[in-house]
Amino acid sequence: MGNRHKTEFSIAQSNRTFFIETYGCQMNKADSDSLAQMLRLNGYTESQTPDKADIVVINTCSVRKTAENRIWGRLGFYKEMKRSRSILLILMGCMAQRLGDGAADFKRLRGYGVDMVVGTFFRDKVPFLLEHYDPKADNIFVEKTDLTFPWSAPALDNPLTSFVTISHGCNNFCSYCIVPYLRGRETSRPSDQIIEDIQRLAGQGVIQVTLLGQNVNSYGLDNNDIKFPQLLKRICHETDIQWIKYESSHPKDFTEDLAEVIASEDKVSNYLHLAVQSGSNHILEKMNRKYRIEDYIAKVQHIRQLVPKLNLTTDVIVGFSGETESDFQDTLTLMRTVEFDDAYMYKYNVRENTVSAKSMDDDVPEDVKLHRLQELIDLQRQISDERRHRRIGDITEVIPVSVSKKSGEADKMNQIHGLTKEELHVVYDAADPNDKSVKKVKYTGVSGSTMLGEIINS
Ligand code: SF4
Repeated sequence: MGNRHKTEFSIAQSNRTFFIETYGCQMNKADSDSLAQMLRLNGYTESQTPDKADIVVINTCSVRKTAENRIWGRLGFYKEMKRSRSILLILMGCMAQRLGDGAADFKRLRGYGVDMVVGTFFRDKVPFLLEHYDPKADNIFVEKTDLTFPWSAPALDNPLTSFVTISHGCNNFCSYCIVPYLRGRETSRPSDQIIEDIQRLAGQGVIQVTLLGQNVNSYGLDNNDIKFPQLLKRICHETDIQWIKYESSHPKDFTEDLAEVIASEDKVSNYLHLAVQSGSNHILEKMNRKYRIEDYIAKVQHIRQLVPKLNLTTDVIVGFSGETESDFQDTLTLMRTVEFDDAYMYKYNVRENTVSAKSMDDDVPEDVKLHRLQELIDLQRQISDERRHRRIGDITEVIPVSVSKKSGEADKMNQIHGLTKEELHVVYDAADPNDKSVKKVKYTGVSGSTMLGEIINS
């Protein structure tokens, strides 16, 4: 290590500027927001660009190989940067957890100039690790230790909102998924701590919290605390937060109790992301999803009856191991039957060390996967567009996200891009660009995937 002049680094008062680059899911975004907050409180200053930062944190994702490939590309970028200036490069999150164990991967990371590897159990200890940084040590922190949940912070890109982590890890072991191996078994955060965290955020002006867990619906099943529907009720009645959203929801744990709370509690958003993954029972079984498609459809019909304006979204994987044309047709039939408002659609990619990688063939040809994905996307686009048009005339609540001046009316109106309570994007005009309060808007039209609206009084 003696010849690593450009990468050796000691944390002094003079090099306390940081930059965080985030990949992957909402949980990673929440971890980055809270790390930024912790670093600020510890006297570090945030930089808007990496070229001005002394410390660069890449918060990584391992769920898809494409995400990891992108991160290797970014490491190449920082390796170049380190030739001309000294920075401390930290790899954090799921990919760090996955690679930190292997000697070959460790050597490769060092070759890219990574100075510290911080796995998923150490994400809230980065300020401590920085204060005790020793350039001559390995600086690899990937043991599965006891968990602590950091305090949440308003989101970096929209301070009216915040993510609040309510559980960590997953017990489901879907056969294609690497997450349980990287984040460990599910651990629920104590409900009293969640309530305290959310009340503090409400006091800071946060309007919306999004409760995060790999499967929020199984919150509290690992300890003697309350279950998820009761947690939602407590947040509604014991805090001043105005809107509550949550993800991800596993269909097998979506209960009637939960549907009743969504329908009856005004603060709980009419938004539900319920990942279905496939419309074929044969594939759902191979994926180890633990529900049948008939049960999934019955749950969706029930919640739609209770909450007709629900914004319902899903995830779908096409081309999973053994998926026949008939299985794929079942998925298309499901999409037509349920009519999701939107869907995240992927083609199957093998993740090493998962059950499907070890024991199932990746036997759907690439061109068939691509063809099925395109057919699915085309169908869903049409359904999403129809559902958005059906919302024209509805009245909802909105918070501003960003503002731009309306061309040609420089001093009069501002065009606001807002986020609705049911998680739709809407553009509307407002006179005061600094007004951060909740407004009522009426949908007046659709432009691509965005709703158009106008503010109404009362
Ligand atoms: S529920 Fe399944 S897909 Fe989601 S994190 Fe757990 S194992 Fe992965």
